[in-house]
Amino acid sequence: MIRVGIGYDSHRFTEGRPLVLGGVTIPHERGLQGHSDADAVAHALIDAMLGAAAAGDIGQLFPDDDPRWKDADSMELLSSAQSVVRDRGYALAHADLTIITEQPRLRTHLPAMAASLTRRLGTQPDAVSLKAKSNEGMGFIGRGEGIAVIAIATLEAR
Ligand code: MG
Repeated sequence: MIRVGIGYDSHRFTEGRPLVLGGVTIPHERGLQGHSDADAVAHALIDAMLGAAAAGDIGQLFPDDDPRWKDADSMELLSSAQSVVRDRGYALAHADLTIITEQPRLRTHLPAMAASLTRRLGTQPDAVSLKAKSNEGMGFIGRGEGIAVIAIATLEAR
């Protein structure tokens, strides 16, 4: 049996934090604001996986008013979410993500992010697909205020 879930996340750019996406630190003058390390790629993927398993969402699993998750490594949260999904009898077959931001240009960093995610998830190297695009100057993304990520995850019964 196959199940599909969708995830979305956005974070505001801020000074004085590293930009971490998919567990990879990207050279940039600003990072993302958030309770955890604000890794929007990991967060969107977590929500897609949890959604496919009908296992709630990232805010239920890791509340942002819980000091345990302050500055948390979101790749650790991804591993925890994978355990929840596994306990429900599913394994990740494939995920597809689109990162939307004006800056920085992410294309050259996508292979490192995909490798980081598949290594953490223990999947085949081609189990995670990542794409990056701008928002053509429109809206909060176009003004460079933040970043958004959309993810779809396909789970198969184990
Ligand atoms: Mg988030």
